[in-house]
Amino acid sequence: MAKSKYEYVRNFELQDRLLPSTWLVVRVDGQGFTKFTSKHEFTKPNDVRALNLMNRAAKIVVESMVEIVLAYGQSDEYSFVFSKDAKAYERRASKLSTLLVSKFTSAYVYYWSEFFPDTRLQFPPAFDSRVVMYPSEHILRDYLSWRQVDCHINNMYNTCFWALVNKGGMTQKEAEKRLSGTLSKDKNELLFSEFEINYNNEPAIFKKGSVIIREKVLIDVVDAQGKMTKRTKTEVAILHCDIIKNAFWNENPDILG
Ligand code: ATP
Ligand code: ATP
Ligand code: MG
Ligand code: MG
Ligand code: MG
Ligand code: MG
Repeated sequence: MAKSKYEYVRNFELQDRLLPSTWLVVRVDGQGFTKFTSKHEFTKPNDVRALNLMNRAAKIVVESMVEIVLAYGQSDEYSFVFSKDAKAYERRASKLSTLLVSKFTSAYVYYWSEFFPDTRLQFPPAFDSRVVMYPSEHILRDYLSWRQVDCHINNMYNTCFWALVNKGGMTQKEAEKRLSGTLSKDKNELLFSEFEINYNNEPAIFKKGSVIIREKVLIDVVDAQGKMTKRTKTEVAILHCDIIKNAFWNENPDILG
């Protein structure tokens, strides 16, 4: 197409190519979900329908971008890890970040009614997004540990808080006061002695969050001669496991390649 005299305005665009050979993480987070969750009457502290919807939307994203090697989600956030040699969109930060978050958001809305058949969306939800480069495997793992520890700390607090409010008859103010200054072991003890809740027995999806990886599985196929053989196939799997300790990484050495 012929160039117009207006073409020069392109020079005002920022070059935003991310560094090569660095792990890229795009994290999306629900905007104002404290309000969104109460408007849509989410079960507190954990609405499992909402977590499954987040996982559904994240799976769409992982399936749409082959260079994503792992995703980790908890609460209203999801982190997507791109392989350190990812080439998509020439590693342009705004392209990666905006395409990912718009796909995530539209999938969240697209699948809403499957997970909330009796709740109409009251307004269009939004997610923010950022992209961060991590220069080593060690720091990338620390990033993921940071998010999983955050999940643990918040879940423990919220489990206590809503037990005090819903079962203990406290106001939200009173529950907040009761919990201020308590350590993890105090919260464990409170749950057990006052509400007969063994925190260890809480569902893993609440305690650990969700981890999406591509798993190689062996499947039976019939070859051209009609004989049964095995073939490996890649499947997107959702797990609720620890990703802080070495065990997960030793069992899945391909993820970080
Ligand atoms: P911001 O726009 O700054 O992110 P926010 O209100 O979304 O504001 P967050 O720190 O992201 O703040 O907190 C997310 C909120 O959504 C928390 O109140 C959390 O309890 C709630 N929430 C997220 N997922 C669920 C869920 N599955 N069930 C119940 N509540 C949830
Ligand atoms: P990219 O991902 O690079 O943006 P693209 O296929 O979206 O690829 P664009 O340059 O954005 O490329 O072009 C948009 C395309 O969508 C064109 O083919 C255009 O004709 C088509 N299109 C957009 N809006 C309409 C519309 N209202 N009616 C018919 N065709 C449309
Ligand atoms: Mg935020
Ligand atoms: Mg939020
Ligand atoms: Mg959040
Ligand atoms: Mg286009």
